[in-house]
Amino acid sequence: MSDDFENSVINLKLLIDEEKNKVVFAEAGTDFVDILFSFSTLPMGTIVRLLEMHHKSRSIAIGCFNNIYASVVSMGMKHFSTQACKQMLLFPGSLNQDKCQNMKLKIDDSEATKCFMCPMFVRSGQCSKGYSNFKTSRCSCGNFMDEVIQFQGEGGRGNGSQAEVFVRGAHTSFIITDDLKVQVNSVGSTLNVLKDLAYADCDKLVEMILEVNLQEVATLLVCLFTSDTPLTDTFLKKKSSHGMNRIHKRPSPSLSEDREETKADQTIMLNAYVRKEEGNILYVECGDDFVDLLFSFLAMPLESVWDISGRGIILGCIGNLCKSFKDLSSASATEASAFKCVLPHYYKCQKQLLNDVVTTHQPPTYYRFVSFSADHFREYRLSENSGKRLVYDWDKLVPVTSIDPKTEGNNTAETSGFVKRGTKFMVTDDLIINPSNSTSTIGFLKEKQTRLDEVEIRVINMTKEEAIRLLGASMVTSSALSTGLLAMESASTSDPKCRFFKKPKIETET
Ligand SMILES: [Zn+2]
Repeated sequence: MSDDFENSVINLKLLIDEEKNKVVFAEAGTDFVDILFSFSTLPMGTIVRLLEMHHKSRSIAIGCFNNIYASVVSMGMKHFSTQACKQMLLFPGSLNQDKCQNMKLKIDDSEATKCFMCPMFVRSGQCSKGYSNFKTSRCSCGNFMDEVIQFQGEGGRGNGSQAEVFVRGAHTSFIITDDLKVQVNSVGSTLNVLKDLAYADCDKLVEMILEVNLQEVATLLVCLFTSDTPLTDTFLKKKSSHGMNRIHKRPSPSLSEDREETKADQTIMLNAYVRKEEGNILYVECGDDFVDLLFSFLAMPLESVWDISGRGIILGCIGNLCKSFKDLSSASATEASAFKCVLPHYYKCQKQLLNDVVTTHQPPTYYRFVSFSADHFREYRLSENSGKRLVYDWDKLVPVTSIDPKTEGNNTAETSGFVKRGTKFMVTDDLIINPSNSTSTIGFLKEKQTRLDEVEIRVINMTKEEAIRLLGASMVTSSALSTGLLAMESASTSDPKCRFFKKPKIETET
């Protein structure tokens, strides 16, 4: 991280109730609101990683997401389709990453997405005529595709602060309540907020001007997942007194309507080991497609998870923040897409139960201009149409298309997923995922002190409905399978316990 970011600050004005030691609301410019909105665009895997990084003393569990993430961390490279698969799950890419580069304080330290090609591309006829977003991808000639593509006109990413990030329109001042409702600042909105909070006069209220630094932004992200009053807890250094609301509502009836049309390729079959007496799932045995689904949750932005779950989850102020983001950001206005979630192209998996709510972005084709008069080559970042309008000869422009880093072009079949095809897995109720073998099953039953005759096997044919419910349950409970697949009432909405967590470490292929 550059010193620029370390030393940057953003001005914030707080209106404080001194008697209650509580923030009534904050008054801020677009720079601060952009930071709040950027939280809602962060992929879930990034949030898990950032919370762990900034809050070392105690791990903060977001439902079962920490367990999904930790499962990726601990799973051996041999179980992933390619090295890139583990990388894209530990450090998820996002279509909003470029926008976030323009923020004054940037909490996400993920590297911007780059494009790589084989260094032999020009000289060798055996090379795949493509690029990968991961330098660990192998070209068909056997080399790593590790030469970064420099785009023409790149280098000056603009001088940051002026560029529009998320906030739409010409508004420059906003008020933000302690539970993160963001509104355009006006006399009317200010009075309404005060009236809603039952302040008849302002005698007890004082103003405080703050300079917010990166450390406080990190604290604010932590408070988003631990507190119902994140501004108070962040800026008045209060220890969260009442914790946070976690509610998983019963699924809305509209979800079950289109059930009959489900085709075989839109279902995933699982063997669930259910405790007969309690009726909860101990674990499921499953194939690669279910694990791909769970792993894809890590790439989904927070606001998409909230949106897809039918807003049926209540997790602190996250609903307020996501709703404000929808109302005020340009992201939601311009991408009038039928999909609730658009992911980078390399997250496209073979079987997508959520394929009418989650889609992947079409990867761009780049053009390489081959000049025979000089010994160097330049790349043009062009769409096919604008390329044809160039003054250069069209046949000197060589298209370079994206390869799927999950198959590296070697696989002719349409098989594509994060984990190796044909692998069997065992997934616990709280979404710890392990490649299965008989010893892991027996060990697990022993650990749970469960006798074989207390357990029955149920076959579950999972459809989109269960996948959506599972996603919502993963956010708020530690019994995601029982809640999501058997529609059990959440066994627990208290603080889920994180079973284990390890720092991401990329293994190198040998
Ligand atoms: Zn090559």
